[in-house]
Amino acid sequence: MSFEMDISKCPYCGGALTHRFIDGHKRLVCAKCNRIIYMNPVPVVAAVVIKDGKILLAKRKNLPNIGQWNLPAGFLELHEQPEEGALRELKEETGLTGKNPELCCAVTQNSKRYGSVVVMGFIIKEVSGEIIPGDDASDARFFPLNNIPHIPFSSHRRIIEKASSLIL
Ligand SMILES: [Zn+2]
Repeated sequence: MSFEMDISKCPYCGGALTHRFIDGHKRLVCAKCNRIIYMNPVPVVAAVVIKDGKILLAKRKNLPNIGQWNLPAGFLELHEQPEEGALRELKEETGLTGKNPELCCAVTQNSKRYGSVVVMGFIIKEVSGEIIPGDDASDARFFPLNNIPHIPFSSHRRIIEKASSLIL
């Protein structure tokens, strides 16, 4: 899949951009300030809550894949620690308060909308509160691990597989 962002000016100084081959990659470089404009995967954080053989999923309210189930997840904010982001997304989408997230794994996935994302999955064993779907989620509930609905994101499926092998 090819994905190129259409950036006409340097986002740092407004200078004109040119293409150069650097380290084997075609890079956008600013002719004025010489910065390389890197095209990187967009960081996403996901919360993995597994209890009694069941996993917490949230139903998507927005594009892409509206109405389908996935891990509570969202983009990491600027200056936010990934652990904090995972707890924030868990709270926003499911109403649950989590503690002590542990990194399970990080996987990349092509994205039609963003080119590429890297999803960091955090296992959150300590959760409290009641499920109240919110923000990007229209519903949230636990599903038995051996009977989960189709999850459209390969990154989430891989994280769930890894988390299950670590927890069970
Ligand atoms: Zn510049």
